[in-house]
Amino acid sequence: MRQYDIRKRIVVTGGAGFLGSHLMDRLLEQGHEVICVDNLFTGTKRNIDHLHDNPRFEFVRHDVTFPLYVEADEIWNLACPASPIHYSHDPVQTTKTSVHGAINMLGLAKRLRCRIFQASTSEVYGDPAVHPQREDYWGNVNCIGPRSCYDEGKRCAETLFFDYHRQHGLDIKVARIFNTYGPRMHPNDGRVISNFIVQALRGDPITIYGEGRQTRSFCYVDDLIEGFLRLMETPQGFTGPVNLGNPGEFTIHQLARMVLELTGSSSTLVNKPLPEDDPMQRQPDISLARSELDWEPKVALEDGLKKTIAYFDALLREGKQD
Ligand code: NAD
Ligand code: UDP
Ligand code: UDP
Repeated sequence: MRQYDIRKRIVVTGGAGFLGSHLMDRLLEQGHEVICVDNLFTGTKRNIDHLHDNPRFEFVRHDVTFPLYVEADEIWNLACPASPIHYSHDPVQTTKTSVHGAINMLGLAKRLRCRIFQASTSEVYGDPAVHPQREDYWGNVNCIGPRSCYDEGKRCAETLFFDYHRQHGLDIKVARIFNTYGPRMHPNDGRVISNFIVQALRGDPITIYGEGRQTRSFCYVDDLIEGFLRLMETPQGFTGPVNLGNPGEFTIHQLARMVLELTGSSSTLVNKPLPEDDPMQRQPDISLARSELDWEPKVALEDGLKKTIAYFDALLREGKQD
C-alpha cells in the first residue's frame, strides 16, 4: 500500500518547470494539496494553467534564495535552472539558488520536522573518468569553469542535505537525475532534445555540437517521476543519493538521425563548436534504484520522442514559443 493514502500538504519548489509540473500532476492525482513555489525564471504559467481550478493547488511566486515560511508535511526541492543556456545566464544567481535555496528549504524542513527531497544531477559526476557512473563515484568536476555554477552548486546542495541529515537528523532523499526529456520542456530551453525537435519541425538546420560523438542517456519524464515517487516512499533510513535515468546510451549524432526520421523533416545537419567542459560520455548505473526502489525506465527513446514531438508540434502550431 502507498504511504500516500494520507492527504498531505506538499511544497514543490520549481513546480512551474518541466519536471516540477509533471510531479505536481502526480501528487494532485494522489489527492494531496500542493503548494508550488517558483519565481518563474525558467518555468512558465503555461505548465500550471491546467491546475488553477484545482482547490488543492496553490501557486506562490517566490525566489528560494529568500526564506520561506509556510506549513507543510513534505518538501520537494526542484528549483534551479537546468539547461546550460539558462544556468550560465546569471551564474551567481544559479549558485545562490542551489546553495541558499537548499539552506532555506532545509531550514524549513528542520522547523517542520518533515521529509525533504533534493533534485540533484548527474552533473555532480562532471566529465566522468569512470563509466557508467555509480553513486559511489566522486566525480571529475572543474570548479572554475562555465558549468561550475551548476555542478558545484548542486554538489554543495548535496553536502548541505547530508550535513542537515547528520547534524539535525533530517529525513532526506537525494536523487541524481540524468538527462530527462518530454512534454513541457521549454522550446527555447537549449537542451539537445528540445533543440533538435524544434529545429526539425521548423525545417531549420540541426545543430550538432562538436562531431556528435559524445553520448547521453535520455529518460522519459513519466519514468523519472515514477522513480521520484518511489524514492520518496522509501523508509527513513534510506537517503540516497540514487541515480535516476535511462541507461540506454546514444551518441548525439544518432539522436539527430532519430529525430529527423520521426519528424520526417528534411533539415540538414550542421556542426557547431563543442561547448567548454561538455562531458564526452554519460550513462547511469541504476543498480541501486533497481534494488532499493524496484524501479527502472520503461519508455523506449523512440516512443518518448514521438510523444515529445507531438507536444512541440502542437505548441509551434499554436504559436506559443516563448
Ligand atoms: P526547469 O528549468 O524547467 O525548472 C526549474 C524551475 O525552477 C523553473 O520553474 C524555474 O522558474 C524555477 N526556479 C529557478 N530558480 C528559482 C529560484 N531561485 N526560486 C524559485 N524558483 C526557481 O528545469 P527542470 O528540467 O524541470 O529541472 C528541475 C530540477 O531537476 C532542477 O533542480 C534541475 O537541476 C534538476 N535536473 C533536471 C534534469 C533534466 O534533465 N531535466 C537533469 C538533472 C537535474
Ligand atoms: N528558514 C526558512 N523557513 C523556515 C525556517 C528557516 O526559510 O521555516 C530559513 C532561515 O531563514 C535560515 C535557513 O532556513 O536562514 C536555515 O535555517 P536553520 O534553522 O538551519 O538555520 P538558522 O536559522 O539557525 O541559521
Ligand atoms: N547538444 C548539441 N546540440 C544542441 C544542444 C546540445 O549537440 O543543439 C549537445 C551538447 O553539446 C551535449 C549534449 O548535446 O553534448 C547534451 O546537451 P544538453 O544541453 O541537452 O545536456 P547536458 O550537456 O547538460 O547533458
